[in-house]
Amino acid sequence: MTVSPLAICWFRQDLRLNDNPALCAAVAHGPVLPVFILDHESAGSAAPGAASMVWLHHSLESLDASLGGALQCYEGDAMTILGDLIESHGVTGVFWNRCYEPWQIRRDTNLKRYLRETGCETQSFNGSLLWEPWEITKSDGTPYRVFTPFYRRGCLAAPAPRAPIPPPDIEGRLVAGNEATRSSLLPQHPWATQMMRPWLPGEQGAGDRLSQFLHEGIDDYKEGRNYPAKGNVSRLSPHLHFGELSPNQVWYASSALYDDANLDHFLSELGWREFSYHLLYANPDMQTLNLQPRFDRFPWQRDSEKLKRWQRGQTGYPIVDAGMRELWQTGYMHNRVRMIVGSFLVKNLLTHWHEGERWFRDCLVDFDLANNSAGWQWIAGCGADAAPYFRVFNPVTQGQKFDPEGRYTRQYVPEIGALSDRRLHCPWEATDTELSEAGIRLGIDYPHPIVELRESREAALVAFASTKDPV
Ligand SMILES: Cc1cc2nc3c(=O)[nH]c(=O)nc-3n(C[C@H](O)[C@H](O)[C@H](O)COP(=O)(O)OP(=O)(O)OC[C@H]3O[C@@H](n4cnc5c(N)ncnc54)[C@H](O)[C@@H]3O)c2cc1C
Repeated sequence: MTVSPLAICWFRQDLRLNDNPALCAAVAHGPVLPVFILDHESAGSAAPGAASMVWLHHSLESLDASLGGALQCYEGDAMTILGDLIESHGVTGVFWNRCYEPWQIRRDTNLKRYLRETGCETQSFNGSLLWEPWEITKSDGTPYRVFTPFYRRGCLAAPAPRAPIPPPDIEGRLVAGNEATRSSLLPQHPWATQMMRPWLPGEQGAGDRLSQFLHEGIDDYKEGRNYPAKGNVSRLSPHLHFGELSPNQVWYASSALYDDANLDHFLSELGWREFSYHLLYANPDMQTLNLQPRFDRFPWQRDSEKLKRWQRGQTGYPIVDAGMRELWQTGYMHNRVRMIVGSFLVKNLLTHWHEGERWFRDCLVDFDLANNSAGWQWIAGCGADAAPYFRVFNPVTQGQKFDPEGRYTRQYVPEIGALSDRRLHCPWEATDTELSEAGIRLGIDYPHPIVELRESREAALVAFASTKDPV
Protein backbone atom coordinates (compact mmCIF):
# COMPACT_ATOMS: atom_id res chain seq x y z
CA MET A 1 0.00 0.00 0.00
CA THR A 2 1.37 3.46 -0.83
CA VAL A 3 0.96 6.09 1.85
CA SER A 4 -0.12 9.49 0.55
CA PRO A 5 2.36 12.07 1.88
CA LEU A 6 0.08 14.26 4.01
CA ALA A 7 1.80 17.12 5.82
CA ILE A 8 0.83 19.15 8.86
CA CYS A 9 1.85 22.79 8.80
CA TRP A 10 1.77 23.70 12.47
CA PHE A 11 1.17 27.45 12.69
CA ARG A 12 2.39 29.04 15.92
CA GLN A 13 3.83 32.57 15.96
CA ASP A 14 3.91 32.76 12.17
CA LEU A 15 0.28 33.53 11.31
CA ARG A 16 0.96 34.41 7.67
CA LEU A 17 1.38 32.93 4.20
CA ASN A 18 4.23 35.16 2.99
CA ASP A 19 7.81 34.45 4.01
CA ASN A 20 6.77 31.28 5.78
CA PRO A 21 9.45 28.57 5.35
CA ALA A 22 7.45 25.90 7.23
CA LEU A 23 4.40 26.38 5.01
CA CYS A 24 6.59 26.14 1.89
CA ALA A 25 8.16 22.89 3.15
CA ALA A 26 4.76 21.42 4.02
CA VAL A 27 3.36 22.24 0.57
CA ALA A 28 6.44 20.68 -1.05
CA HIS A 29 5.86 17.53 1.03
CA GLY A 30 2.26 16.86 0.02
CA PRO A 31 -1.31 17.98 0.69
CA VAL A 32 -1.37 20.12 3.84
CA LEU A 33 -3.46 20.06 6.98
CA PRO A 34 -2.98 23.54 8.53
CA VAL A 35 -3.17 23.37 12.32
CA PHE A 36 -3.03 25.81 15.22
CA ILE A 37 -2.90 24.64 18.85
CA LEU A 38 -3.47 26.80 21.90
CA ASP A 39 -1.34 25.11 24.55
CA HIS A 40 -1.76 27.31 27.60
CA GLU A 41 -1.14 24.59 30.14
CA SER A 42 2.34 23.84 28.86
CA ALA A 43 3.08 27.57 28.81
CA GLY A 44 2.43 27.95 32.56
CA SER A 45 3.42 31.40 33.81
CA ALA A 46 4.59 32.36 30.31
CA ALA A 47 1.02 32.10 29.00
CA PRO A 48 -0.10 35.37 27.44
CA GLY A 49 -2.99 37.25 29.01
CA ALA A 50 -6.40 38.52 27.99
CA ALA A 51 -5.34 41.22 25.49
CA SER A 52 -3.12 38.80 23.57
CA MET A 53 -5.98 36.31 23.39
CA VAL A 54 -8.25 38.92 21.86
CA TRP A 55 -5.61 39.67 19.24
CA LEU A 56 -4.99 35.98 18.61
CA HIS A 57 -8.70 35.38 18.07
CA HIS A 58 -8.82 37.94 15.26
CA SER A 59 -5.49 36.92 13.81
CA LEU A 60 -6.58 33.28 13.57
CA GLU A 61 -9.77 34.34 11.86
CA SER A 62 -7.73 36.25 9.33
CA LEU A 63 -5.34 33.35 8.72
CA ASP A 64 -8.25 30.96 8.38
CA ALA A 65 -9.77 33.21 5.72
CA SER A 66 -6.45 33.25 3.82
CA LEU A 67 -6.44 29.45 3.99
CA GLY A 68 -9.96 29.23 2.60
CA GLY A 69 -11.42 28.10 5.93
CA ALA A 70 -9.07 25.10 6.24
CA LEU A 71 -7.31 26.10 9.49
CA GLN A 72 -7.90 23.56 12.25
CA CYS A 73 -7.70 25.16 15.68
CA TYR A 74 -7.28 23.03 18.79
CA GLU A 75 -6.78 23.71 22.47
CA GLY A 76 -4.71 21.44 24.73
CA ASP A 77 -1.47 19.52 24.87
CA ALA A 78 0.26 19.87 21.49
CA MET A 79 2.01 16.52 21.68
CA THR A 80 -1.26 14.65 22.27
CA ILE A 81 -3.17 16.60 19.63
CA LEU A 82 -0.51 16.20 16.96
CA GLY A 83 -0.08 12.50 17.86
CA ASP A 84 -3.83 11.92 17.39
CA LEU A 85 -3.88 13.83 14.10
CA ILE A 86 -0.91 11.91 12.75
CA GLU A 87 -2.60 8.65 13.57
CA SER A 88 -6.09 9.52 12.37
CA HIS A 89 -4.97 11.18 9.11
CA GLY A 90 -1.88 9.13 8.27
CA VAL A 91 0.31 12.22 8.38
CA THR A 92 3.87 11.67 7.10
CA GLY A 93 5.44 15.08 7.72
CA VAL A 94 5.13 17.83 10.34
CA PHE A 95 6.63 21.27 9.69
CA TRP A 96 6.86 24.37 11.86
CA ASN A 97 8.75 27.61 12.35
CA ARG A 98 10.73 27.76 15.55
CA CYS A 99 9.60 29.50 18.75
CA TYR A 100 12.10 30.42 21.43
CA GLU A 101 10.41 30.49 24.81
CA PRO A 102 12.02 27.91 27.12
CA TRP A 103 8.83 25.84 27.49
CA GLN A 104 8.39 25.82 23.70
CA ILE A 105 11.97 24.69 23.15
CA ARG A 106 11.50 21.83 25.66
CA ARG A 107 8.20 20.76 24.12
CA ASP A 108 9.42 20.96 20.53
CA THR A 109 12.60 19.02 21.29
CA ASN A 110 10.53 16.19 22.81
CA LEU A 111 8.10 16.33 19.93
CA LYS A 112 10.84 16.10 17.32
CA ARG A 113 12.29 13.05 19.03
CA TYR A 114 8.86 11.41 19.17
CA LEU A 115 8.08 12.19 15.52
CA ARG A 116 11.39 10.83 14.34
CA GLU A 117 10.85 7.64 16.35
CA THR A 118 7.50 7.17 14.65
CA GLY A 119 9.09 7.64 11.22
CA CYS A 120 7.35 10.95 10.53
CA GLU A 121 9.42 13.52 8.67
CA THR A 122 9.84 16.70 10.67
CA GLN A 123 11.61 19.96 10.02
CA SER A 124 11.69 23.29 11.80
CA PHE A 125 12.73 26.65 10.37
CA ASN A 126 13.63 30.16 11.40
CA GLY A 127 10.54 32.24 10.64
CA SER A 128 10.66 34.81 13.47
CA LEU A 129 14.17 36.13 13.91
CA LEU A 130 16.77 37.77 11.70
CA TRP A 131 19.51 35.66 13.27
CA GLU A 132 19.16 32.56 15.38
CA PRO A 133 19.92 33.38 19.04
CA TRP A 134 22.77 30.84 19.10
CA GLU A 135 24.33 32.12 15.86
CA ILE A 136 25.59 35.37 17.35
CA THR A 137 28.26 34.84 19.96
CA LYS A 138 31.34 36.62 21.29
CA SER A 139 34.68 35.48 19.95
CA ASP A 140 34.98 33.04 22.86
CA GLY A 141 31.66 31.45 21.91
CA THR A 142 29.70 32.82 24.89
CA PRO A 143 26.52 34.89 24.53
CA TYR A 144 26.58 38.68 24.57
CA ARG A 145 25.27 40.64 27.56
CA VAL A 146 25.63 44.14 26.14
CA PHE A 147 23.49 45.37 23.27
CA THR A 148 25.87 47.52 21.20
CA PRO A 149 28.59 44.88 20.64
CA PHE A 150 25.86 42.24 20.17
CA TYR A 151 24.30 44.24 17.37
CA ARG A 152 27.31 45.99 15.80
CA ARG A 153 30.00 43.32 16.16
CA GLY A 154 27.71 40.33 16.21
CA CYS A 155 24.61 40.81 14.05
CA LEU A 156 25.86 43.34 11.52
CA ALA A 157 29.08 41.39 10.96
CA ALA A 158 27.18 38.11 10.48
CA PRO A 159 25.74 37.00 7.11
CA ALA A 160 22.77 39.21 6.13
CA PRO A 161 19.33 38.00 7.21
CA ARG A 162 17.54 35.64 4.84
CA ALA A 163 15.60 37.51 2.15
CA PRO A 164 11.81 37.00 2.41
CA ILE A 165 10.38 34.13 0.38
CA PRO A 166 7.14 34.31 -1.63
CA PRO A 167 4.05 32.40 -0.47
CA PRO A 168 3.65 28.88 -1.83
CA ASP A 169 0.82 28.05 -4.21
CA ILE A 170 -1.78 26.56 -1.86
CA GLU A 171 -4.52 26.27 -4.48
CA GLY A 172 -5.99 22.76 -4.14
CA ARG A 173 -3.26 21.78 -1.64
CA LEU A 174 -5.16 22.16 1.64
CA VAL A 175 -6.98 19.32 3.34
CA ALA A 176 -9.97 19.81 5.59
CA GLY A 177 -9.56 18.03 8.93
CA ASN A 178 -12.18 16.92 11.43
CA GLU A 179 -14.10 19.68 13.11
CA ALA A 180 -11.54 21.01 15.56
CA THR A 181 -12.73 22.24 18.93
CA ARG A 182 -11.62 25.52 20.35
CA SER A 183 -13.52 27.74 22.69
CA SER A 184 -13.78 31.42 21.83
CA LEU A 185 -10.82 33.48 22.94
CA LEU A 186 -12.93 36.60 23.22
CA PRO A 187 -14.04 37.66 26.70
CA GLN A 188 -17.65 38.78 26.97
CA HIS A 189 -16.63 42.32 27.83
CA PRO A 190 -16.97 45.57 25.87
CA TRP A 191 -13.26 46.24 26.59
CA ALA A 192 -12.32 43.56 24.06
CA THR A 193 -14.11 45.40 21.23
CA GLN A 194 -13.07 48.88 22.24
CA MET A 195 -9.40 47.93 22.64
CA MET A 196 -9.19 46.59 19.11
CA ARG A 197 -10.49 49.75 17.42
CA PRO A 198 -7.05 51.07 16.42
CA TRP A 199 -5.90 47.68 15.12
CA LEU A 200 -6.36 45.32 12.21
CA PRO A 201 -4.85 41.96 13.20
CA GLY A 202 -3.76 39.58 10.46
CA GLU A 203 -1.36 39.55 7.54
CA GLN A 204 -3.19 42.22 5.54
CA GLY A 205 -3.35 44.58 8.52
CA ALA A 206 0.35 44.00 9.21
CA GLY A 207 1.28 44.83 5.62
CA ASP A 208 -0.89 47.96 5.67
CA ARG A 209 0.69 49.07 8.94
CA LEU A 210 4.19 48.54 7.54
CA SER A 211 3.54 50.54 4.38
CA GLN A 212 1.89 53.34 6.35
CA PHE A 213 4.94 53.53 8.60
CA LEU A 214 7.33 53.48 5.64
CA HIS A 215 5.47 56.35 4.01
CA GLU A 216 4.60 58.46 7.04
CA GLY A 217 6.71 57.54 10.07
CA ILE A 218 10.21 56.40 9.36
CA ASP A 219 11.65 59.58 7.84
CA ASP A 220 11.85 61.24 11.28
CA TYR A 221 12.08 58.04 13.29
CA LYS A 222 15.35 58.73 15.14
CA GLU A 223 14.04 61.88 16.81
CA GLY A 224 10.27 61.41 16.56
CA ARG A 225 10.24 57.95 18.18
CA ASN A 226 10.66 59.62 21.59
CA TYR A 227 7.43 61.60 21.38
CA PRO A 228 4.29 59.61 22.14
CA ALA A 229 2.02 62.14 20.40
CA LYS A 230 3.91 61.82 17.11
CA GLY A 231 3.22 59.12 14.54
CA ASN A 232 6.84 58.11 14.07
CA VAL A 233 6.85 54.64 15.62
CA SER A 234 5.69 51.69 13.55
CA ARG A 235 3.27 49.96 15.99
CA LEU A 236 4.30 46.74 14.32
CA SER A 237 5.02 44.98 17.63
CA PRO A 238 1.85 42.86 17.89
CA HIS A 239 2.08 41.95 14.20
CA LEU A 240 5.70 40.89 14.69
CA HIS A 241 4.90 38.98 17.85
CA PHE A 242 2.20 36.90 16.20
CA GLY A 243 4.26 36.56 13.05
CA GLU A 244 1.73 38.24 10.79
CA LEU A 245 4.81 39.57 9.12
CA SER A 246 8.41 38.56 9.63
CA PRO A 247 11.27 40.79 10.76
CA ASN A 248 12.91 39.85 7.46
CA GLN A 249 10.04 41.45 5.54
CA VAL A 250 10.34 44.59 7.66
CA TRP A 251 14.13 44.66 7.36
CA TYR A 252 14.18 44.37 3.56
CA ALA A 253 11.14 46.56 2.85
CA SER A 254 12.55 49.45 4.91
CA SER A 255 16.12 49.02 3.60
CA ALA A 256 14.83 49.12 0.01
CA LEU A 257 13.37 52.59 0.54
CA TYR A 258 15.79 54.31 2.91
CA ASP A 259 19.48 54.58 3.62
CA ASP A 260 20.00 57.11 6.39
CA ALA A 261 20.24 57.55 10.15
CA ASN A 262 16.50 57.01 10.57
CA LEU A 263 16.72 53.62 8.87
CA ASP A 264 19.79 52.66 10.93
CA HIS A 265 17.99 53.56 14.11
CA PHE A 266 14.86 51.69 13.14
CA LEU A 267 16.82 48.56 12.19
CA SER A 268 18.66 48.75 15.50
CA GLU A 269 15.29 48.56 17.28
CA LEU A 270 14.67 45.31 15.44
CA GLY A 271 18.14 44.51 16.79
CA TRP A 272 16.85 45.06 20.35
CA ARG A 273 14.19 42.48 19.63
CA GLU A 274 16.91 40.05 18.51
CA PHE A 275 18.89 40.91 21.66
CA SER A 276 15.92 40.06 23.90
CA TYR A 277 15.65 36.65 22.25
CA HIS A 278 19.41 36.17 22.53
CA LEU A 279 19.20 36.93 26.26
CA LEU A 280 16.20 34.68 26.80
CA TYR A 281 17.88 31.82 24.99
CA ALA A 282 20.97 32.17 27.19
CA ASN A 283 18.93 32.85 30.36
CA PRO A 284 15.79 30.72 30.17
CA ASP A 285 14.60 31.95 33.61
CA MET A 286 14.74 35.61 32.59
CA GLN A 287 11.01 36.10 33.20
CA THR A 288 11.55 35.60 36.93
CA LEU A 289 15.26 35.62 37.87
CA ASN A 290 17.23 38.87 38.07
CA LEU A 291 20.05 38.78 35.55
CA GLN A 292 22.12 40.60 38.18
CA PRO A 293 21.89 38.46 41.34
CA ARG A 294 22.59 41.40 43.68
CA PHE A 295 18.95 42.41 43.04
CA ASP A 296 17.84 39.22 44.81
CA ARG A 297 18.52 41.20 48.00
CA PHE A 298 16.49 44.24 46.95
CA PRO A 299 14.00 45.26 49.66
CA TRP A 300 10.88 45.48 47.50
CA GLN A 301 7.74 46.82 49.14
CA ARG A 302 4.23 45.49 48.80
CA ASP A 303 1.44 48.04 48.67
CA SER A 304 -1.58 46.68 46.87
CA GLU A 305 -3.39 50.02 46.98
CA LYS A 306 -0.55 51.84 45.21
CA LEU A 307 -0.18 49.01 42.71
CA LYS A 308 -3.88 49.28 41.90
CA ARG A 309 -3.60 53.04 41.44
CA TRP A 310 -0.69 52.48 39.04
CA GLN A 311 -2.60 49.84 37.09
CA ARG A 312 -5.65 52.09 36.78
CA GLY A 313 -3.79 55.25 35.82
CA GLN A 314 -4.62 57.06 39.08
CA THR A 315 -1.16 57.91 40.43
CA GLY A 316 -1.57 61.68 40.20
CA TYR A 317 1.36 61.89 37.74
CA PRO A 318 -0.30 62.73 34.43
CA ILE A 319 2.21 61.13 32.00
CA VAL A 320 2.22 57.92 34.06
CA ASP A 321 -1.57 57.86 34.16
CA ALA A 322 -1.78 58.59 30.43
CA GLY A 323 0.48 55.62 29.68
CA MET A 324 -1.41 53.21 31.92
CA ARG A 325 -4.72 54.30 30.41
CA GLU A 326 -3.34 54.00 26.87
CA LEU A 327 -2.37 50.43 27.77
CA TRP A 328 -5.83 49.61 29.07
CA GLN A 329 -7.70 51.31 26.25
CA THR A 330 -5.58 50.14 23.29
CA GLY A 331 -3.47 47.18 24.46
CA TYR A 332 -0.36 49.19 23.55
CA MET A 333 1.89 51.76 25.16
CA HIS A 334 4.49 53.94 23.50
CA ASN A 335 8.05 52.82 24.32
CA ARG A 336 9.08 56.12 25.96
CA VAL A 337 6.05 55.89 28.24
CA ARG A 338 6.71 52.19 29.01
CA MET A 339 10.04 53.35 30.41
CA ILE A 340 8.44 56.16 32.43
CA VAL A 341 5.68 54.02 33.98
CA GLY A 342 8.13 51.16 34.57
CA SER A 343 10.62 53.38 36.37
CA PHE A 344 7.79 54.87 38.43
CA LEU A 345 6.53 51.46 39.56
CA VAL A 346 9.90 49.99 40.37
CA LYS A 347 11.76 53.01 41.69
CA ASN A 348 9.21 55.49 43.05
CA LEU A 349 6.82 52.83 44.37
CA LEU A 350 9.58 50.28 45.13
CA THR A 351 7.29 47.58 43.73
CA HIS A 352 8.85 44.40 42.37
CA TRP A 353 9.25 44.44 38.60
CA HIS A 354 7.41 41.10 38.51
CA GLU A 355 4.17 43.02 39.17
CA GLY A 356 4.81 45.20 36.13
CA GLU A 357 5.78 42.22 34.01
CA ARG A 358 2.55 40.48 35.02
CA TRP A 359 0.29 43.47 34.34
CA PHE A 360 1.87 44.11 30.94
CA ARG A 361 1.58 40.39 30.14
CA ASP A 362 -2.15 40.61 30.74
CA CYS A 363 -2.82 43.94 29.03
CA LEU A 364 -0.44 44.25 26.05
CA VAL A 365 -1.53 43.05 22.63
CA ASP A 366 2.18 42.85 21.81
CA PHE A 367 3.09 40.89 24.96
CA ASP A 368 6.21 38.96 24.13
CA LEU A 369 8.00 36.93 26.79
CA ALA A 370 11.49 37.85 25.59
CA ASN A 371 10.84 41.57 25.04
CA ASN A 372 8.71 42.03 28.14
CA SER A 373 11.13 40.28 30.49
CA ALA A 374 14.10 42.12 28.98
CA GLY A 375 12.22 45.44 29.11
CA TRP A 376 11.32 45.05 32.78
CA GLN A 377 14.78 43.87 33.78
CA TRP A 378 16.25 46.82 31.87
CA ILE A 379 14.04 49.39 33.53
CA ALA A 380 14.47 47.83 36.99
CA GLY A 381 18.24 48.02 36.58
CA CYS A 382 18.74 44.28 37.16
CA GLY A 383 19.06 43.33 33.48
CA ALA A 384 22.14 42.39 31.52
CA ASP A 385 22.61 45.76 29.83
CA ALA A 386 20.27 47.74 32.04
CA ALA A 387 19.62 51.39 32.72
CA PRO A 388 21.72 52.16 35.80
CA TYR A 389 19.59 51.87 38.91
CA PHE A 390 20.28 55.45 39.98
CA ARG A 391 18.68 56.69 36.75
CA VAL A 392 15.19 57.37 38.04
CA PHE A 393 12.94 58.85 35.36
CA ASN A 394 11.27 62.01 36.63
CA PRO A 395 7.70 61.84 35.31
CA VAL A 396 7.31 65.62 35.38
CA THR A 397 10.41 66.48 33.36
CA GLN A 398 9.86 63.48 31.08
CA GLY A 399 6.32 64.70 30.40
CA GLN A 400 7.47 68.26 29.78
CA LYS A 401 10.24 67.13 27.47
CA PHE A 402 8.51 64.42 25.47
CA ASP A 403 4.91 65.66 25.52
CA PRO A 404 5.54 69.41 25.67
CA GLU A 405 2.18 70.40 24.21
CA GLY A 406 0.42 67.74 26.24
CA ARG A 407 -1.36 66.22 23.26
CA TYR A 408 -0.76 62.66 24.43
CA THR A 409 -1.47 63.39 28.08
CA ARG A 410 -4.67 65.29 27.33
CA GLN A 411 -5.92 62.43 25.15
CA TYR A 412 -5.80 59.96 28.03
CA VAL A 413 -6.21 62.24 31.05
CA PRO A 414 -8.88 64.60 29.74
CA GLU A 415 -10.07 65.60 33.22
CA ILE A 416 -7.04 67.90 33.57
CA GLY A 417 -6.96 68.89 29.90
CA ALA A 418 -7.90 72.52 30.56
CA LEU A 419 -4.71 73.16 32.54
CA SER A 420 -1.98 75.15 30.78
CA ASP A 421 0.88 73.21 29.15
CA ARG A 422 3.10 74.44 31.98
CA ARG A 423 0.92 72.95 34.73
CA LEU A 424 -0.32 69.89 32.88
CA HIS A 425 2.48 67.60 34.05
CA CYS A 426 2.42 68.89 37.65
CA PRO A 427 -1.18 69.87 38.51
CA TRP A 428 -0.35 70.07 42.23
CA GLU A 429 1.80 73.12 41.46
CA ALA A 430 -1.15 74.98 39.95
CA THR A 431 -2.57 77.79 42.03
CA ASP A 432 -6.12 77.59 43.37
CA THR A 433 -7.16 80.09 40.69
CA GLU A 434 -5.54 78.06 37.91
CA LEU A 435 -7.24 74.92 39.17
CA SER A 436 -10.65 76.50 39.48
CA GLU A 437 -10.35 78.14 36.04
CA ALA A 438 -9.56 74.69 34.63
CA GLY A 439 -12.55 73.23 36.52
CA ILE A 440 -10.41 70.83 38.57
CA ARG A 441 -10.81 69.90 42.22
CA LEU A 442 -7.53 68.17 42.99
CA GLY A 443 -8.14 65.05 45.05
CA ILE A 444 -11.67 64.75 43.63
CA ASP A 445 -11.53 65.08 39.83
CA TYR A 446 -7.91 63.98 39.64
CA PRO A 447 -5.80 62.47 42.45
CA HIS A 448 -3.04 64.07 44.46
CA PRO A 449 0.31 62.37 43.73
CA ILE A 450 0.52 59.02 45.50
CA VAL A 451 4.19 59.52 46.38
CA GLU A 452 6.48 62.50 46.60
CA LEU A 453 9.13 62.38 43.87
CA ARG A 454 12.23 63.51 45.71
CA GLU A 455 11.55 61.40 48.82
CA SER A 456 10.71 58.27 46.85
CA ARG A 457 13.78 58.70 44.65
CA GLU A 458 15.96 58.91 47.72
CA ALA A 459 14.31 55.86 49.28
CA ALA A 460 15.03 53.98 46.03
CA LEU A 461 18.70 54.89 46.14
CA VAL A 462 18.96 53.76 49.76
CA ALA A 463 17.26 50.48 48.87
CA PHE A 464 19.66 50.01 45.97
CA ALA A 465 22.70 50.72 48.14
CA SER A 466 21.57 47.94 50.50
CA THR A 467 22.04 45.37 47.71
CA LYS A 468 25.76 46.06 47.39
CA ASP A 469 28.09 43.23 48.25
CA PRO A 470 29.43 43.65 51.81
CA VAL A 471 33.10 44.68 51.68
C1 LIG B 1 8.93 47.65 30.52
C2 LIG B 1 8.90 47.31 29.04
C3 LIG B 1 8.15 46.23 28.57
C4 LIG B 1 8.12 45.91 27.20
N1 LIG B 1 7.35 44.84 26.79
C5 LIG B 1 7.34 44.52 25.46
C6 LIG B 1 6.56 43.41 25.00
O1 LIG B 1 5.93 42.67 25.78
N2 LIG B 1 6.53 43.18 23.66
C7 LIG B 1 7.24 43.93 22.77
O2 LIG B 1 7.18 43.66 21.57
N3 LIG B 1 8.01 44.94 23.20
C8 LIG B 1 8.08 45.28 24.51
N4 LIG B 1 8.84 46.34 24.92
C9 LIG B 1 9.72 47.02 23.95
C10 LIG B 1 9.12 48.23 23.22
O3 LIG B 1 8.50 49.10 24.11
C11 LIG B 1 8.11 47.82 22.14
O4 LIG B 1 8.66 46.81 21.32
C12 LIG B 1 7.72 49.01 21.26
O5 LIG B 1 7.20 50.05 22.03
C13 LIG B 1 6.70 48.57 20.24
O6 LIG B 1 6.23 49.66 19.52
P1 LIG B 1 6.53 49.83 17.97
O7 LIG B 1 6.21 48.57 17.23
O8 LIG B 1 5.84 51.07 17.54
O9 LIG B 1 8.11 50.04 17.98
P2 LIG B 1 9.09 50.65 16.90
O10 LIG B 1 9.82 51.76 17.54
O11 LIG B 1 8.41 50.94 15.62
O12 LIG B 1 10.15 49.47 16.70
C14 LIG B 1 10.00 48.44 15.70
C15 LIG B 1 10.06 47.08 16.35
O13 LIG B 1 11.31 46.89 17.00
C16 LIG B 1 11.14 46.11 18.18
N5 LIG B 1 11.51 46.92 19.35
C17 LIG B 1 11.45 48.27 19.47
N6 LIG B 1 11.92 48.66 20.68
C18 LIG B 1 12.28 47.52 21.32
C19 LIG B 1 12.83 47.25 22.60
N7 LIG B 1 13.15 48.23 23.47
N8 LIG B 1 13.05 45.96 22.95
C20 LIG B 1 12.78 44.96 22.09
N9 LIG B 1 12.26 45.16 20.86
C21 LIG B 1 12.01 46.41 20.48
C22 LIG B 1 9.66 45.77 18.27
O14 LIG B 1 9.46 44.50 17.69
C23 LIG B 1 9.03 46.87 17.43
O15 LIG B 1 7.78 46.50 16.88
C24 LIG B 1 8.88 46.68 26.29
C25 LIG B 1 9.63 47.77 26.76
C26 LIG B 1 9.65 48.09 28.11
C27 LIG B 1 10.46 49.26 28.59
